[in-house]
Amino acid sequence: MLAFSILIALILSEYTASADGWNYDFQGKDWGESFPNCDGIRQSPIDIQSEAVLSAHYLSPFFFSEAFYRPVQKATLSNTGHGFKVSVDGNGLNMGGGGLTHRRYELLQFHAHWGDHTRFPMGSEHTVDKRQYPAEFHFVFKSKETSTLAVLGFFVELSDIAAKGGLGNLIDLLAQTKFDKDSSSGSEDGNHDDGNEAVDSSVDISNHLKMSDLIPIGRNGGELDGFYRYSGSLTTPPCNEIVEWTVFHKPIFISLKQYEKISECCLDTTGEVTQNNFRPTQPLNGREVFTSLDSDGIPVWL
Ligand SMILES: [Zn+2]
Repeated sequence: MLAFSILIALILSEYTASADGWNYDFQGKDWGESFPNCDGIRQSPIDIQSEAVLSAHYLSPFFFSEAFYRPVQKATLSNTGHGFKVSVDGNGLNMGGGGLTHRRYELLQFHAHWGDHTRFPMGSEHTVDKRQYPAEFHFVFKSKETSTLAVLGFFVELSDIAAKGGLGNLIDLLAQTKFDKDSSSGSEDGNHDDGNEAVDSSVDISNHLKMSDLIPIGRNGGELDGFYRYSGSLTTPPCNEIVEWTVFHKPIFISLKQYEKISECCLDTTGEVTQNNFRPTQPLNGREVFTSLDSDGIPVWL
């Protein structure tokens, strides 16, 4: 009985830890009570008003290290309790340029935000002229020199054609993983017999992903040429205002079926399917939003 009680206590403490003490029940309006940064004046996401953005000649093309074109050697897919996360730090996935403050940034992880099927197509965090997309991917980079972050954000739009290659594979992996209590794909130590998988559900997906399949680099069509830039915050607690945001003009396309797979991938700590895990837009408070395109839609560096 004592062992059982200890097990339950352990599970509960893990649950609390994975829940991080916050949720989306009140669209983040209550976060400031426990995380004061969330009431700051440079918060994210924002609504990008296309009439008000400024063409900025300091912006430049992004460049990515060779590692982006090879399978990621060490990658872990996990359920944060607020959605999925793929951790890829330590793989030499370095990025630079883009007019960012620092010279080099390393990719730590990526994740997504999405809606549900009743309030379609809500789901993205940033909006453009108040328009919300069904989902948004965030690739989180950390400066090699300081603790500041650069996040690359991509809107997700629906298409009749399913995304193939790396993105399609990732979405299939999410569907297989499920992150539910019956999942048999829990911890890698083989210790699956304690019914604890919902808490300890991380999956080794090393060598399964190529980042150039997810971030549209090296493709024709200038997918990365058009982007918005502004200073903001993490969009989840603790909401630190340490993020140089890049939001790309062109969305990533997936099929409705793939969208369903993403939006049903993960259970939260109460056993509910994680949906509507996006924060509403925050006041701009005088911040400027820049764009890499001139008034003719040509990149400023050309
Ligand atoms: Zn995010």
